[in-house]
Amino acid sequence: MRRAILTAVLLSALLLTSCEVHFGDRKYEVEWYVVAIPTVLIVVLSAVIAGTVLSKNTYVCSKCSHRFHPKWWQAAFSFHLNSDRVFKCPNCGHKGFCRKED
Ligand SMILES: [Zn+2]
Repeated sequence: MRRAILTAVLLSALLLTSCEVHFGDRKYEVEWYVVAIPTVLIVVLSAVIAGTVLSKNTYVCSKCSHRFHPKWWQAAFSFHLNSDRVFKCPNCGHKGFCRKED
């Protein structure tokens, strides 16, 4: 699923040849990378910041009750339901929803 989304995004980016940017009443014709590069930087920076903040939380394994802090990239890209996130437990290897400890 992630690979399909990434492929669709990359193909869409490659199909763009130019962009029309409206700034107030003025219209500018700019190259696609003038819009794409800052967008990618903002998305990556947001993922790093969110992952860093989320990795400071303590999560509890549902199988062995091991308490751990995930890596920033695991926290940023994990599936979640409310504050519970899917991680692979570093202690027992169980992959499933881990409760966020308050
Ligand atoms: Zn565990």
